[in-house]
Amino acid sequence: MSRLDSFISRMQSQRAVLNHIKDTSMVAADGVILEIGLGNGRTYDHIRELFPTNRIIAFDRAVGSHPDSTPPEADLVLGDIRETIRQFAGKDVAFAHADIGTAYPEKDAQTLTWLPQSVAAALASGGIAASGLPLDHSALEPLPLPAGGVPGRTYFYRKR
Ligand code: SAM
Repeated sequence: MSRLDSFISRMQSQRAVLNHIKDTSMVAADGVILEIGLGNGRTYDHIRELFPTNRIIAFDRAVGSHPDSTPPEADLVLGDIRETIRQFAGKDVAFAHADIGTAYPEKDAQTLTWLPQSVAAALASGGIAASGLPLDHSALEPLPLPAGGVPGRTYFYRKR
């Protein structure tokens, strides 16, 4: 698979899972959503469209998003997510979307030393996680991917 095909597959998988979460009402209308890895703001923009009543808090090292999809300052958390996400432990987050994979195995291995437990700690019981990296954690029950979700591109969980 070319890198272009791989990129398209990742985008399609993200969209299918996000749309499924919306279509099956997995997130309460007043639940807090974490967008872990704002980047250009594309998935932030899609999540904002799908969940217009929810507060969406976005994380990144620095703002690199398009001005049209940059969250308000109060909903932006800048710095190393490994550190900044700690303040959300126990905050009963409804949905966490994590898109911080790099395709560099050694970097992703480093991220996986802290991301699964950080997401598990932030989510409420019954909360949902979708991630480009696997979140192996005893509190996170893997969910079947919906149609269009691509195994190995998106990982999908509910907190027990
Ligand atoms: N979902 C975004 C979109 O649709 O535009 C793309 C996210 S991009 C693949 C990943 C982002 O995560 C990058 O902007 C990078 O700076 C950020 N990131 C990765 N690891 C991070 C860390 N440990 N702390 C802060 N930001 C991080």
